[in-house]
Amino acid sequence: MQNDLTIIIGAGLSGLHAAWRLHTTGLPVMLIEARERPGGRILSLPMRDGAHHLDLGPSWYWPELNPLMSEWVQRLKLPHYPQQTQGASFIEDANGVIRRLPYTWEPSPPSMRIRGGMAALVNGIQNLLTGIDWQMNTRVEAIQLLPDHSIALSLVQKGQRWVQPATRVISTLPPRLLCDINSTPPWPDAQKRQWRHTPTWMAGHAKFIALYERAFWREAGCSGTAMSQRGPLGEIHDASDEQGKHAALFGFFGVPPIHRQNMGNAVLRQQAIDQLCRLFGTQAKTPIRAVIQDWTQESFTATALDQQPLYHHPVYEPPTVPTEWQGHLWLAGTEFAPLSGGFLEGALESAEYATKELLYFLNRTGTAI
Ligand SMILES: Cc1cc2nc3c(=O)[nH]c(=O)nc-3n(C[C@H](O)[C@H](O)[C@H](O)COP(=O)(O)OP(=O)(O)OC[C@H]3O[C@@H](n4cnc5c(N)ncnc54)[C@H](O)[C@@H]3O)c2cc1C
Repeated sequence: MQNDLTIIIGAGLSGLHAAWRLHTTGLPVMLIEARERPGGRILSLPMRDGAHHLDLGPSWYWPELNPLMSEWVQRLKLPHYPQQTQGASFIEDANGVIRRLPYTWEPSPPSMRIRGGMAALVNGIQNLLTGIDWQMNTRVEAIQLLPDHSIALSLVQKGQRWVQPATRVISTLPPRLLCDINSTPPWPDAQKRQWRHTPTWMAGHAKFIALYERAFWREAGCSGTAMSQRGPLGEIHDASDEQGKHAALFGFFGVPPIHRQNMGNAVLRQQAIDQLCRLFGTQAKTPIRAVIQDWTQESFTATALDQQPLYHHPVYEPPTVPTEWQGHLWLAGTEFAPLSGGFLEGALESAEYATKELLYFLNRTGTAI
């Protein structure tokens, strides 16, 4: 079909997978991404040698539970290794009493990490998407279904606004962000309520990473794992490369977003380092570098509603596309995955569903590709 164009909103893992699926069928695709980089919640910080990366977003996948992730790891031949769990671990109670356990819980099934960080997955998929139209730094502001059944997307790129026509759209935005896209015809109120009610997984979290000259905790027989009720880090793990050459510890702040903002990064950083000293010894006092990545500060991930701490993994459901939009809009993104919602696997799973349904629709309606 002439001028046929499928637009995918969002170049996170879900958008990249959807783009790859459609690209391999020969369907013309445009990927529109608000940030200056692809990956969305996947963000890895390169070390000086450029080889090892520290994951500021997701670090783990679980091969036994994540068939689509495993397929990508195999397809891209990405070296991977289990999360370091050899050695003693610590439990710190709310009063600061620390217990050393002679072992570390082995996650079951084991958590795997990708050499080069999760960014290696993003780069690998991106390299397969040669020839597709990428619009980075470009925010979708509004979406309109026109009387001739084509779609007009209102875009903003570096302050410049323009309207991009499309034949159909796949959105991979978390439901709360999708709600804020101005739509004509408008999203039904009940739909908006449901989307607002669907938390964006990990959007309220912040990660702390401290880099050291040596993995001194490993030398002292510790795995780097600790659980703490005192905080500010609730859960700590080793973030080094396989050999422990690039030594690092990471933790998730247990402090709710609003308190983190009141405390400020300088105080949080110092408290996190003090905690690492309590647990692993005074060598933790002088990291080469310490980084805080607070996802609540990322407007292309979190909304004001994500300031509410989550105490359990939400139940995610398959998407319902508003009636007037059916056949024009498909919804993906991990929060629309019924089996693995919230996880990397869910981002892939939802993109699989959306692209399969879209291709089935094109086939059924006799649309020539
Ligand atoms: C700290 C942290 C740790 C995590 N740990 C793990 C883990 O260990 N294992 C695991 O499986 N999962 C983990 N997750 C979850 C995992 O990161 C997500 O499930 C996955 O990355 C979601 O991918 P996605 O493509 O669905 O969404 P996103 O990555 O959020 O992609 C959405 C994209 O849309 C873009 N966008 C937003 N608004 C607009 C707009 N208006 N116009 C254009 N583009 C827009 C965004 O910039 C983004 O690139 C973690 C997440 C975080 C934050």
